[in-house]
Amino acid sequence: IRKVQPSSQELVGGILAGNITALSRAITLVESTNSNHLAKANEVINACLPHANKSVRIGVTGVPGVGKSTFIEAFGKYLTSLGKKVAVLAVDPSSTISHGSILGDKTRMEELVKDENAFIRPSASGETLGGVARKTRETITLCEAAGFDTIIIETVGVGQSETAVHSMVDFFLLLKISGAGDELQGIKRGIMEMADAIVINKADGDNIRKANLAKLEFNRALHLFPAKKSGWIPTTATCSAITHEGISDVWKTIEQFLELTKENNYFFEKRKEQNQYWMLETINEQLKLNFYNHPQIHQLLDSTKKAVQNDETSPFAAAKLLLEKYFKF
Ligand code: GDP
Repeated sequence: IRKVQPSSQELVGGILAGNITALSRAITLVESTNSNHLAKANEVINACLPHANKSVRIGVTGVPGVGKSTFIEAFGKYLTSLGKKVAVLAVDPSSTISHGSILGDKTRMEELVKDENAFIRPSASGETLGGVARKTRETITLCEAAGFDTIIIETVGVGQSETAVHSMVDFFLLLKISGAGDELQGIKRGIMEMADAIVINKADGDNIRKANLAKLEFNRALHLFPAKKSGWIPTTATCSAITHEGISDVWKTIEQFLELTKENNYFFEKRKEQNQYWMLETINEQLKLNFYNHPQIHQLLDSTKKAVQNDETSPFAAAKLLLEKYFKF
């Protein structure tokens, strides 16, 4: 049986009508490495663009086990109970190896998966973090055009993926749990600096007192950072993704953030800056791919690597030569 693929117009029509099958198909095009698919994906995205943007984009990060998926399920259910349409996406650069570890497991977010006002999509896979992140950035546009007004992007708090997610969201939430009292140990300064809110999860049962202490400690630490361009003072809170205590307060905080940053225009300026960032990122990514995938460069690279290893030529001269060759092809 020959499968008839919908045209890009049909896909756009479906997406704008809120059809989840059309949305999923368009995302699959975005994620494809086939150049015909990419051309079609670009057509769809451009047609969706005028209908996108009316949303809030929330990044959620935290180390494995902190409770991200339990939190996102509780938070997402709360948002849909308010009448919101929630899309949950992920940036997981390790998904290439593990075939979609984040959100890939169907047992995660069981309740939210069943919610007709929620859409959950596992992380794209790819060779580079940049590639994975770009696909998620484009998927945001598609989800927004399909009527999703709240976009949650999950990422594991290891490595560089937080920075990529930070550059595609309006609000960045860092999930933590209380530890052995020394809460700040091992936490990367850069990640704390990006956070608009630090929420201590698992504040339930015997953990409540420790969670409150951790909250105080983070609060003190946050005050040591320079003021944010947004004018927003990062907040700390506790919650339990299991008992749902504190979940609605997280949304209240985000609403306050939106009120402030829309009034002082930061919200809109940041989105413009982010668009520019993703254009430049995509150019960088594409140039790199084109260069390394060029058959002649590919061949030359091996011999040049050896020449550099053996000090027959300097790394800089070799790089210059290869780049010059590439741009002459
Ligand atoms: P992730 O790896 O960050 O996505 O974490 P998960 O959401 O998979 O949660 C890891 C473990 O912590 C699971 O066993 C959850 O049931 C548990 N957990 C998550 N949130 C809470 C919470 O608020 N309270 C308690 N007591 N356990 C939680």
